[in-house]
Amino acid sequence: MRQDPVGTRRGFGGLRIWVLVLFAIYAGYYWLSNRSTDALTGEKVVIDKSISAQDEKALGLQAYQEILTKEQPVDRSTPEAREVQEVVRRIVARVPEVEDALASEHGLQAPHVEKTFDWDVNLLQSDQVNAFCLPGGKIAVYTGLLPVAQNTDAMAVVLGHEISHALLRHGAQRMTEQKLAQIGQMAGAASGMDQQQMQTVMAVYGYGRALPYARKQETQADELGLMLAAAACYNPQEAIPLWERMTQASGGGQSEFASDHPNPGTRIKNLQALMPKALEYRARFCKQPATAALMP
Ligand SMILES: [Zn+2]
Repeated sequence: MRQDPVGTRRGFGGLRIWVLVLFAIYAGYYWLSNRSTDALTGEKVVIDKSISAQDEKALGLQAYQEILTKEQPVDRSTPEAREVQEVVRRIVARVPEVEDALASEHGLQAPHVEKTFDWDVNLLQSDQVNAFCLPGGKIAVYTGLLPVAQNTDAMAVVLGHEISHALLRHGAQRMTEQKLAQIGQMAGAASGMDQQQMQTVMAVYGYGRALPYARKQETQADELGLMLAAAACYNPQEAIPLWERMTQASGGGQSEFASDHPNPGTRIKNLQALMPKALEYRARFCKQPATAALMP
């Protein structure tokens, strides 16, 4: 009687199951050992403990310098550039208190990653309707965003959102997810998956995990960002018409706000639900009234 030698025994369409099991154990261990509760959102997150805020900051700075050499920064003394700087300055000033308040709602201590940040903001001459804040606090606003934002309150909502991605360490979370996906790909290759099986697995991963995960991060950045803008004395209610304009403007799909982003209707509903809390944060933390006019 012929027997399969151990190690070539295959099941499920010729896959080496034991290889998949070993990789699954490793992935499970990696996932569990890097899991923690985010103090600001109260939600479970997976951040590779070997990625420090300092590492993230170094990567952020490198990316920022590359972008600044390619794009055209607007002179810092122009009224538009000054306005953006002022919004960032005011939001950044409220970060520690807002983080403490949110963390205490979850019975946790705020990590205050902003202590490692060196904040900076540049307005970049570009038609893109976009803005970003890299890990470490380097921020860019594209001039294409100005006509969509229309007013300082809405600009504060956008900047609050972008700054929140950095404060919540979404960059490190994405790097961790990439590492998990790599473990999955290695498992696929080692267990003898063919191209088509791999593609199917990655597609399932994309829809089942990566996309919902990205949307969750957007919702988290919306919430923290709204509280920050409100605490910095801006009107959080401008968030609703802003996202309506943003949805129209990003119809072409080339802005950060179009990809991976929550369904616009869902986003607006979420923001409306957050409004009472945002107004409470404004009453509690706003130390000076916002000026109505954009320009000095
Ligand atoms: Zn975002």
